[in-house]
Amino acid sequence: MSEPIRIELPTMYGMQSVNTYLFLEPEPVLVDCGEKSKASWEALQAALSVQNLAIKDIKKIIITHAHVDHIGMAGQIVEESGAEVWVNEHCYDWAVHTKDMWAKRMKMMEKHILGDMPPDGDGDKFKQMLFGFMNAVMDAWDVLPKEKVHTYPIDGTLNIGGTDWQVIYAPGHTNMQTCFYQKEKKWLIGADMLLKITATPVIEFTLEDSSKREKGLAAMLASYQKISDLEIETVFPGHYEPFNDHRRLIASQVRRIHMRKESTLELIKGGKNRFYELFDVLYTNRMNMPGMSMLRGYLDLLIDENKIEEQIVDGYNFYQLV
Ligand SMILES: [Zn+2]
Repeated sequence: MSEPIRIELPTMYGMQSVNTYLFLEPEPVLVDCGEKSKASWEALQAALSVQNLAIKDIKKIIITHAHVDHIGMAGQIVEESGAEVWVNEHCYDWAVHTKDMWAKRMKMMEKHILGDMPPDGDGDKFKQMLFGFMNAVMDAWDVLPKEKVHTYPIDGTLNIGGTDWQVIYAPGHTNMQTCFYQKEKKWLIGADMLLKITATPVIEFTLEDSSKREKGLAAMLASYQKISDLEIETVFPGHYEPFNDHRRLIASQVRRIHMRKESTLELIKGGKNRFYELFDVLYTNRMNMPGMSMLRGYLDLLIDENKIEEQIVDGYNFYQLV
């Protein structure tokens, strides 16, 4: 079997691009497929034409996780090609009930991001940013027709490019993320689990209860361990170029997470007890979502380690040493 062909598509996020991987044999298959936009469509068309293919030739799209930059354009490709879309069982509702799922997730983000903003601070500005972001996501993401969507189990195998890949459940960035591992070749299609930069755990609800927030960073650390244990020659990530030496990358990202977690603890010891006070120091002048979810994660880890506790004081979360 030949290597997956990497195709870079443009994305609205800060990253330079998102990857879709093309397999030619036994039939044209894509793993992930970018956001729906004119630029993305044209980039895919151009890359396929190099292989003497067109979008209508795509037979199957396999999705690692249902985020807009990985699934957004699937609907448009299906319309053109009639392709089947394969998602893991945790992505199904996101694929076919996209708007409902987003509405639930927005509630969670409002509660856990805006809920911790200072009363006289940038709350409104951030709220606007959040809603602007959601609208941009909805524009770039078509809901999929049910009859085209199939599910694969998170702990099974999947035939891609004529050979079996083990599905590796890798929660952290999101609780619906899967990677694919080809044992003989030692290849990993890594989604957003392993990237040059540390992927952040998004603010989302748990798989069981849409009113409960997922503790993504702890899950991410466990997934790092799981992936580190695999024998891997090449990682084909969701963003940036393929790379080797996954263990070194994982070790450095895990080290950094613990370092930042310790800095958070030091700040709490020093009397910074509010989310926004901590955020101001750790992410000076960088009002951003990834930073907010990382800080959430450091606090979750410290609570799990029984080093700090969280209370509501005057309507806001208050963190203090145990
Ligand atoms: Zn991504």
